[in-house]
Amino acid sequence: MARYTGPSCRLCRREGLKLYLKGDRCYTDKCSLNRRGYAPGQHGQGRRKLSQYGIQLREKQKARRVYGVLERQFKRYFEMAERQKGVTGENLLRILESRLDNVIYRMGFASSRSEARQLVRHGHFEVNGRKVNIPSYLTKVGDVIAVREKSRGNNRIKELVEAAQQKTAPRWIQVNYDKMEGKISDLPSREDIDIPIEEHLIVELYSR
Ligand code: SF4
Repeated sequence: MARYTGPSCRLCRREGLKLYLKGDRCYTDKCSLNRRGYAPGQHGQGRRKLSQYGIQLREKQKARRVYGVLERQFKRYFEMAERQKGVTGENLLRILESRLDNVIYRMGFASSRSEARQLVRHGHFEVNGRKVNIPSYLTKVGDVIAVREKSRGNNRIKELVEAAQQKTAPRWIQVNYDKMEGKISDLPSREDIDIPIEEHLIVELYSR
């Protein structure tokens, strides 16, 4: 259950890209990347030329950080993706997208993946009628993810579900806001995953 607990904005600054790790704050002027759009650390403002390995490494780190996954688990996902039929890089992204914390974030029932993770850990969600408090739980087509009965009156959850109605849920999840639930109707395709990641670089890195 390990997770990164350091400053989130530092990760965006390292990748030179908004990773939207802090929810609503990321859409305001308070975003650190707007204020200090250079890498953290003493040499952050210096020029640097990345090697091919460096480029591949940064792409992998970016993907890990977007989904909040540590190295060991990320490698495990890669091995799973390799065993599946199809394009390994796309399989990897699909596995990451199917994590329960990501699905809840995609449904709009959390402002960031880390908030989704916390809500799951606190037992506010169920999958197919059974409580699941494991953020890395991998959902599949047909699964119904819902706010648990006892959590429906929770002010933060009510606020999030209300705000979710103003957003667009992804094609592959059918969200019912009145019932506070979503059903996975399909596997996400590459076009559904709007994260600027060149997954082939990750495959090249692990194939070295
Ligand atoms: Fe990244 Fe959000 Fe921090 Fe901006 S506010 S640097 S997008 S985590």
